[in-house]
Amino acid sequence: MPSEPTASPSAFDPNALRDRYRRERNKRLRADGYDQYVELKDSYAHYLDDPYAPRVERAPRHDTVEVAVIGGGFAGLVTSARLRQAGIDDFLIIEKGGGLGGTWYWNRYPGVQCDIDSYIYLPLLEETGYMPTEKYAYGPEILEHCNRIGGFACNVLLGRERRKFFHKVYLRPWSYLYVVRHRFRESG
Ligand SMILES: Cc1cc2nc3c(=O)[nH]c(=O)nc-3n(C[C@H](O)[C@H](O)[C@H](O)COP(=O)(O)OP(=O)(O)OC[C@H]3O[C@@H](n4cnc5c(N)ncnc54)[C@H](O)[C@@H]3O)c2cc1C
Repeated sequence: MPSEPTASPSAFDPNALRDRYRRERNKRLRADGYDQYVELKDSYAHYLDDPYAPRVERAPRHDTVEVAVIGGGFAGLVTSARLRQAGIDDFLIIEKGGGLGGTWYWNRYPGVQCDIDSYIYLPLLEETGYMPTEKYAYGPEILEHCNRIGGFACNVLLGRERRKFFHKVYLRPWSYLYVVRHRFRESG
């Protein structure tokens, strides 16, 4: 059944709301900045390994695409789907893991679950025709949905094969280098 747009409450004050969010954000900012994060080396180095996909060596790949999407989590998947909907097919998701899903690929501990209503949280439900089975879907269902979106939206280059490729150009032990050249077009 069609519904009307939600009416804005008359007392809504966007500046007050913005201030509230700013106050909450400031509470969470820490003086140690990036130093608060633990580098994945030494006894933490194994966290860089992908336990879900065996490493496969292969020859380097050199691709030229209109759009390179780094990361195959929700953000990369939705971006890719929207590109496809806009008629742009010449894109490539480059994902360092062995599969799509990002957060939901990497986090598979028992009971892992979203805490936002699945019907809102899971992207592209209408486009894929999928209805979540639970109000707060569990990880495996969300991961499956990521792969469903992948089927709908994607050209993917997965990372387990790619590590070798980037070995020659990586800058630091924990990073990869992608060469992205911008192509500018005159419009109008
Ligand atoms: C257990 C759990 C529950 C959550 N529940 C909710 C929820 O209920 N509601 C909510 O709003 N949010 C939730 N989140 C937050 C969740 O992370 C986001 O909702 C969302 O999945 C993030 O998507 P993303 O694409 O931005 O990032 P990610 O999911 O982190 O995806 C980024 C991807 O990029 C890849 N990548 C990173 N760097 C590179 C590189 N250099 N080269 C190639 N690939 C790279 C990573 O491997 C990863 O696959 C939850 C998070 C966790 C851990």
